[in-house]
Amino acid sequence: MQRAVAQVPELVIPRYVDGCVLRKGLEIGELLKIRKQALLYVHPCASERGKLMADVELSEDLEKDFFDGDTLCKILESAALGFSQFKCSSNLGVAKFVWKGREISVFRNGKLKIQRCVDRSDILRTANRVSRLVWAAALCDVCKRPALECATDRCGKCSKGKQAVRVERLPAGELLAHAMKLQDRKRAAYFVFRFIVESPTKEDAVVGISLLGEFVS
Ligand SMILES: [Zn+2]
Ligand SMILES: [Zn+2]
Repeated sequence: MQRAVAQVPELVIPRYVDGCVLRKGLEIGELLKIRKQALLYVHPCASERGKLMADVELSEDLEKDFFDGDTLCKILESAALGFSQFKCSSNLGVAKFVWKGREISVFRNGKLKIQRCVDRSDILRTANRVSRLVWAAALCDVCKRPALECATDRCGKCSKGKQAVRVERLPAGELLAHAMKLQDRKRAAYFVFRFIVESPTKEDAVVGISLLGEFVS
């Protein structure tokens, strides 16, 4: 793996301004610290005995759009190799998919519904992974555009210069290095999403988001 990584030693990505959704992230653990209540509602699954389901509210104001519907469908379409079922309506702003045996719905207002979890920590882990997956579709407070446009600097407001990142120093860097060697965009996108989901911190994960513009059109 060492040799493969050495072929893509450095990536140049934007440095994002304070307040940009790519700086803030959608980390469930951080949201739970800020808003202890009204974030996570856990109930038994109606369809499967012994399993849990949860509603997770990423936004405080469910009347407002939290995700951009078009971007939501586009990015999940690129991640869909990892799903066993997938449908998305950009008009309705609803995505539904089955991922690692969990049934997931994402709504434009920032609500996630997660079904068939085994326990509370499974819910939290799944919610965190899902929020990383849909991060690029979240609307940014700075430019009011989806994060994907901040990542590609298309919004024109969220980047303050560039930074060089050494891929092999990132904790899940081998997934990114692998993605960059693949010719097939769909497969490459799958590995970029794995990197985004499996990176331990949002600061590492954002490197993958910064590359998504190349894979999501
Ligand atoms: Zn932004
Ligand atoms: Zn922006």
